[in-house]
Amino acid sequence: MKGSGNISQPDGKARKHPKQRKSVSALTSKKLFQEADNRCPFCGVADVAALEIHHIDENPSNNIIENLIVVCGNCHSKITRGEISPADVHAKKMELFWTHKTSLRRAEKSSVQSVNVNAASVSDSIIANTVNIGRKRSPRMQYPADSIGADTIKKGYVDYLIKRYFDYRQTDASYGSLRPFSHAELHTTIQRKFKAKTFFIHVARFEELCDYIKGRVDQTIQGRRNRSRSVPNYDSFEEYETEQLQYGR
Ligand SMILES: [Zn+2]
Repeated sequence: MKGSGNISQPDGKARKHPKQRKSVSALTSKKLFQEADNRCPFCGVADVAALEIHHIDENPSNNIIENLIVVCGNCHSKITRGEISPADVHAKKMELFWTHKTSLRRAEKSSVQSVNVNAASVSDSIIANTVNIGRKRSPRMQYPADSIGADTIKKGYVDYLIKRYFDYRQTDASYGSLRPFSHAELHTTIQRKFKAKTFFIHVARFEELCDYIKGRVDQTIQGRRNRSRSVPNYDSFEEYETEQLQYGR
């Protein structure tokens, strides 16, 4: 937890100086700029000189790529001031990470300008989407119609649950849990289970996906502690939706 001094790492070693800034390697930096398509993912500014690397967990020594995101100086300040919430930053990173990974794989498979991709097949209904790749500045990939990613509120709720899981796993580490943890694991497990990437899963399976992630949250140490005290681990979708509609999008 923040300010608790020693931070337990997944390998179980407590680091003495968790806040010590380490420079991001040139390779990691290059990957991050590619992932962001040399643009600020929040405001779209494409001036490379204005782009900076932000540490998502605010720990300047944690230089794993999952913890880093390219943002412009302006949006970086907004993150620092809390005007862009940690949940928004996290969701944006997940989106960049997975969108970029997917587009790379597609680019490898085909050099044609336009490919038809089966985004997810759900029982008999197959949803597909045309993605343009190989252009100088490829358009940001959109989630296929009928996918969870295409529904702003449902996608937001899934992001919210995933964020909750990551937060609880981080808390578990502070309780001394040595279970190895990576941000990608949850997504790869979901992909194996649902045969589609998280936000490409058909919207008909939204509840099933939510139940799965909720189950993961409930099984964390923090999740079990809360349940034993009857503290809810997350808002219901209805509560989340009401709040989103109330405050606008
Ligand atoms: Zn920006």
